[in-house]
Amino acid sequence: MFSIAENLKDILTQIPDGVKLVAVSKFHPIEAIDEAYCVGQRIFGESKVQEMVAKYESLPKDIEWHFIGHLQSNKIKYMAPFVSLIHGVDSYKLLVEINKCAIKENRIINCLLQIHIAQEETKFGFTPDECIDMLRNDEWKQLSNIKICGLMGMATFTDNTEQVNREFKFLYQLYTELKENYFSQSDYFKELSMGMSDDYKLAIANGSTLVRVGSKIFGERNY
Ligand SMILES: *Cc1c(COP(=O)(O)O)cnc(C)c1O
Repeated sequence: MFSIAENLKDILTQIPDGVKLVAVSKFHPIEAIDEAYCVGQRIFGESKVQEMVAKYESLPKDIEWHFIGHLQSNKIKYMAPFVSLIHGVDSYKLLVEINKCAIKENRIINCLLQIHIAQEETKFGFTPDECIDMLRNDEWKQLSNIKICGLMGMATFTDNTEQVNREFKFLYQLYTELKENYFSQSDYFKELSMGMSDDYKLAIANGSTLVRVGSKIFGERNY
């Protein structure tokens, strides 16, 4: 037997206070999100802008929509009016674009910098050095309508728990380092988005504040 409400309840009992659950609803229908909403879930994650916009339009307005996919600059404008957090920002150019769209909407848009921590070519993100280079240069501080709220990362897709653990530890360390060196005056720099269905417990043990869980709540996706 499979029930979204029960899956959610089960996961929530394993998540300590201070860690938020992003229910990753990508490719699942409105009805599935509604079921989770009815038992109290309010944060949902989507990876395609059009899909997120369509869901936003037909669902209650107290939902927090998190964009967790790979970002294309020409799509930012569609979600700029409502998105609560963009997890996957991986270039300065994207920050500039998000800022432009945020100004047009008269909003502040919260962002996470995605860091490449996996041993896979296919995952996006800044290398740690690229990220530090960007932050060292003060230009980003002129971007009036974005807030950098923390970091996001995806571990390697592998059964090797030790490797995943190492990658999460590495990301946590980078997060504390950046906080100390560039965000010590910014109380909003406090989020570390790491952990998915297969590794969220390990991620929490390593300091995650936002876990992005999809299939463990909604079942397998049909791509
Ligand atoms: C799809 C996706 C998830 C959720 O993956 P599950 O394994 O289904 O929990 C989390 N984060 C990102 C960035 C994703 O694209």
